[in-house]
Amino acid sequence: MNETPFVSVVIPVFNEEANLDELIRRCLNSCSGIGEPFEIILVDDGSTDSSAEKITEAAEQHAGKVIGVILNRNYGQHAAVMAGLFESKGDIVVTLDADLQNPPEEIPRLVKRAGEGFDVVGSVRVQRRDSLFRRVASFMVNKAVQRATGINMHDYGCMLRAYRRNIVDAMLKCHERSTFIPILANSFARNTTEIEVRHEERLAGPSKYGLWKLVKLQFDLLTSMTTFPLRLLSVLGGIISAVGIGFGLFLLVMRLIRGPEWAAEGVFTLFAILFIFIGAQFIGMGLLGEYIGRIYHDVRARPRYFVQQVVGRNRQA
Ligand code: UDP
Ligand code: MG
Repeated sequence: MNETPFVSVVIPVFNEEANLDELIRRCLNSCSGIGEPFEIILVDDGSTDSSAEKITEAAEQHAGKVIGVILNRNYGQHAAVMAGLFESKGDIVVTLDADLQNPPEEIPRLVKRAGEGFDVVGSVRVQRRDSLFRRVASFMVNKAVQRATGINMHDYGCMLRAYRRNIVDAMLKCHERSTFIPILANSFARNTTEIEVRHEERLAGPSKYGLWKLVKLQFDLLTSMTTFPLRLLSVLGGIISAVGIGFGLFLLVMRLIRGPEWAAEGVFTLFAILFIFIGAQFIGMGLLGEYIGRIYHDVRARPRYFVQQVVGRNRQA
């Protein structure tokens, strides 16, 4: 048992009892094909069905190859994946969904790409089998993320991804509660690539993402990426104030030209003043936002940097 597994596969599981047998069988098959040692880490995210028992059973049956991590309650997909990453030992770690929408048969291709020296190997789902609503929402989110991060990956929603050890270690050093793993990983990656993968219908059971969970995920994604929305408050305030001042000046000029009965005896002047104050309030809130943004960054306490390699140090010294 002194060999370190080369490949770890991390799979979050939430009420997927109907998919587990097939999932484990196909993953074992696919991983055996790589020819390297491997481990499959199944993280039970507080399932209320028999998923946890099934995972325990599989772990006993395939000791050393299948490893079960049972969480005490439901923490959400990304937290579950983090728990799996923490347990993983592989030089290359592949994440995957439990519903077999991402075929495990793609694992060797991802591993091969990562082995070529890419820190993160993403995947793009060709012929995505999801509802139109999900596809459109995904499209917009992906575009937004591409702009915000400047990394041109096309499908952040697809969890079939491979990460090299240094990236996994970096992610494990991030202690914030809300994470969106593909974005977190990209923020540490030196070079990334993508491959196309097949996408299938969910094998059994309904999607584990209801509308609220999806909304929460979007906010996790947004806040994990940037505090820019806080800054928007100041910008908005600035614009409102400027409009108020402009409007006030306009009223003043018109009054001088047209006389006092213009502007409904001062009612509109009140509006102009109101705008200026509302704008000032927004600017105040934006200022608070700036502080909160900084507090947020500090509270996350992410390491300031990660050294990939130090070269040229004299070993004898
Ligand atoms: N999942 C999880 N915890 C949750 C929700 C989902 O571990 O709270 C897992 C789920 O078991 C699956 C993966 O996350 O392995 C993706 O979920 P799903 O397939 O329902 O999402 P969709 O494909 O609809 O985006
Ligand atoms: Mg799915």
